[in-house]
Amino acid sequence: MYDLIIVGAGPAGITASVYAARQKMNFLVLSKDIGGQAAWSGDIENYTGYQFISGTDLVAKFQEHLKNYTIELKENVEVKALQKENEIFSVTTNEASYRAKTVVLASGKRSKPLNVPGEAKFKNKGVTYCATCDGPLFANKTVAVVGGGNSALDATTQLINIAQQIYLINIAQDLTADALVQEKVRRSDQVSILNDTQISAILGDKMVTGIKIKTKSEEKTLAVQGVFVEIGLIPNSEFIQDVEKNGIGEIKVNCRNETSISGLFAAGDVTDVPEKQIIIAAGDGAKCALGAFRYLNRKLK
Ligand SMILES: Cc1cc2nc3c(=O)[nH]c(=O)nc-3n(C[C@H](O)[C@H](O)[C@H](O)COP(=O)(O)OP(=O)(O)OC[C@H]3O[C@@H](n4cnc5c(N)ncnc54)[C@H](O)[C@@H]3O)c2cc1C
Repeated sequence: MYDLIIVGAGPAGITASVYAARQKMNFLVLSKDIGGQAAWSGDIENYTGYQFISGTDLVAKFQEHLKNYTIELKENVEVKALQKENEIFSVTTNEASYRAKTVVLASGKRSKPLNVPGEAKFKNKGVTYCATCDGPLFANKTVAVVGGGNSALDATTQLINIAQQIYLINIAQDLTADALVQEKVRRSDQVSILNDTQISAILGDKMVTGIKIKTKSEEKTLAVQGVFVEIGLIPNSEFIQDVEKNGIGEIKVNCRNETSISGLFAAGDVTDVPEKQIIIAAGDGAKCALGAFRYLNRKLK
């Protein structure tokens, strides 16, 4: 029986772990990976203390920090179910079940699929959801980035240094990303911005060879070797049913990061906190671990 189980090891889960370790809690971290989405971001320019750091370097710094403490962390495990019964949480993964008095959910978000023909067939054969991870595979190639927000433009700026030509396929009338990153993209003559345009299919044989796009007036095929899907994110919250969520599956929290279930705290992108940022996820993680510590102390009195 653990005092605390932390689900996820992105910025929120890692920071919760550091705080729990400093309170000498008996805790376990269960995560599919270390770093979460922070590892996917190219250039990070808004994490206090670093004017500029890459996502992979920031995650390496997080890992270094974790190593200062003895932390029981199981990587490459997926939490499949989480329930509370008789004041005890049971957390079931693809490998085993664990019990704890409190839980911090820091399971973040994952990429939303396009749901067009060819997407599933060509996943990892030209279709990708992570420019940082897979961008280098497309050196000097022609690629499409689908989306118009910060993630899509972040991917595009990374690809400017790698790919030969980039089509930015945006369903909306204009881009919605931050002005600074829009400026960078608009300055590049490698990027063609196609607003008001939908992708209707991904084509290929063994690998991606093209995409079908349509506007209000026409439908045509573009030859591309890569498709970067950057149309938004879905909260990783399906494995818990009984907690209150908002309409898009984000877990509702109060200003102490408490959820509708006592002893269950949630941090970062999986919550309904509107700002999805590394520093906010990290701050939430700290609040959750301290909240869980306080909750256990209150129970003991
Ligand atoms: C391309 C891109 C660029 C970005 N750039 C910036 C930036 O410049 N600055 C900034 O502040 N923010 C940026 N962000 C946002 C930032 O990365 C997120 O807000 C932050 O990572 C959220 O942290 P988190 O810990 O809440 O969730 P995540 O980072 O999503 O981490 C979730 C963790 O939970 C694990 N997990 C998920 N489901 C399960 C499960 N069922 N069982 C076990 N483990 C699970 C995952 O493996 C992961 O370790 C960017 C995001 C993207 C995608």
